[in-house]
Amino acid sequence: MSFLENARTDHIRDCDVAVIGAGAVGVSVAYELLKAGRSVTVLERSDVCSGASYGNAGWVFPNHGAPLARPGAIRKALRWLSNPAGPLYIKPRLSWALMRWLYEFWRASNSTVSRRTFGLNRELALRSLELTEQWITEEGLDCYFGRPGVVLVCETEAGLSESIQDLETLRSFGGEATVLDRVDLLKKVPCLKAAPIGGIFFEGDGHLQPDKYVRGLSEAAEAKGAVFCLNTEVLGFEKEKGRISRIVTTRGDFKPAEVVLAAGAWSKSLGHSLNCRLPLEPAKGYSITVGQPSDGPQLPLLLRESKVAVTPMGKQLRFAGTLELSGLDPNVNLTRVDTVWSAACRHIKGVQFEPRFETWRGFRPCSPDDLPYIGRLSSLTNLTVATGHGMSGISQSAVTGRLVSQVITGHPLDIDIYPFGPERFS
Ligand SMILES: Cc1cc2nc3c(=O)[nH]c(=O)nc-3n(C[C@H](O)[C@H](O)[C@H](O)COP(=O)(O)OP(=O)(O)OC[C@H]3O[C@@H](n4cnc5c(N)ncnc54)[C@H](O)[C@@H]3O)c2cc1C
Repeated sequence: MSFLENARTDHIRDCDVAVIGAGAVGVSVAYELLKAGRSVTVLERSDVCSGASYGNAGWVFPNHGAPLARPGAIRKALRWLSNPAGPLYIKPRLSWALMRWLYEFWRASNSTVSRRTFGLNRELALRSLELTEQWITEEGLDCYFGRPGVVLVCETEAGLSESIQDLETLRSFGGEATVLDRVDLLKKVPCLKAAPIGGIFFEGDGHLQPDKYVRGLSEAAEAKGAVFCLNTEVLGFEKEKGRISRIVTTRGDFKPAEVVLAAGAWSKSLGHSLNCRLPLEPAKGYSITVGQPSDGPQLPLLLRESKVAVTPMGKQLRFAGTLELSGLDPNVNLTRVDTVWSAACRHIKGVQFEPRFETWRGFRPCSPDDLPYIGRLSSLTNLTVATGHGMSGISQSAVTGRLVSQVITGHPLDIDIYPFGPERFS
């Protein structure tokens, strides 16, 4: 008998909702479904929070969040590509999927679409920040959560004036922020070295230590009855009458009533086997976590020109940045890690390489239009997609959990999910 025939005669476990992936998104979906009274089995090929959700900058940012796809983005990207230490790298390769993704990115980079994206992502992140804060309080999660705001630090006049234009867009969606001249900026962030010319303060944006948050939330979900099947990789699916009838994994098979695809940057290949062709590119980024200097930053900072985020997390300080479109290649490019580190040393007083807690890489699951994929597929009635959050997966994870739960339970939606449809590029 072949492997699959053997597997077919094997014991199959029935489950209500099977969530694939235990990152910030999958865990939030599980948590919300449990609160709505459903039973949940999470299938995770490694450990809870072992993907992109682990070592990111941990920002929950409704105010500061201009989309990547915006007017001038292609021109800027071409300029960065010629610089090996620039914030963007695209590995040259013949890939139809990458071509298609870049084409859709180009189509989304006009002012009308980018403005709409700004508004939609802000709405998601605002609701998500509210839910994140509520869950952290209700579950007593210890994850260095705070809402002191975020400071954008600009080194050039051009950078500051582009940021002030973004501020106008933010204001048109009801947001607010304060422009800081050099003196005010240095008063607000005394640990900055003297180079910046000014900045913008986004009041009320939040930040947390993402691994502590996601693992804490998974423990809360487990206490409510979630079953976490770790080291359990989903290998494929069987379909019957327009439904997923079986999930084949490395640790036996499951017969689910509902399936949620929340496998981050790996969702594309899993979706492919279900005829769900998501334009999704893994965008590798790096972070370096060191000890917080005695007079280090108390607020998260975005070093605008180098695109490096700085986040205080208790006794640690994390620097995160760069974006590499090189597929799911796990290699660490030390030149690009050094880009992050050099920006840290150039801007922040007292930063020391030791004690160094971790150098990390992760894959952001990026859609070309900077909007997540949330919703059902027309061809499979029991599959809900929850991925494609790109740079905002921590920011938008809680609201995604809420919306997916509402889709599955048939409750009225907090937010219209039509713009996030997984088939919008079909
Ligand atoms: C450097 C950097 C900084 C960032 N900063 C921020 C930030 O400040 N704020 C913010 O909002 N976002 C940030 N992001 C983006 C954020 O990290 C991601 O959007 C988010 O973590 C995605 O969460 P996820 O749950 O979709 O994916 P992941 O966390 O990657 O989880 C997917 C899970 O699916 C599992 N999986 C994959 N394939 C299978 C399979 N076949 N079977 C079973 N399980 C499988 C994986 O093991 C993984 O655990 C940053 C990202 C990077 C790289």
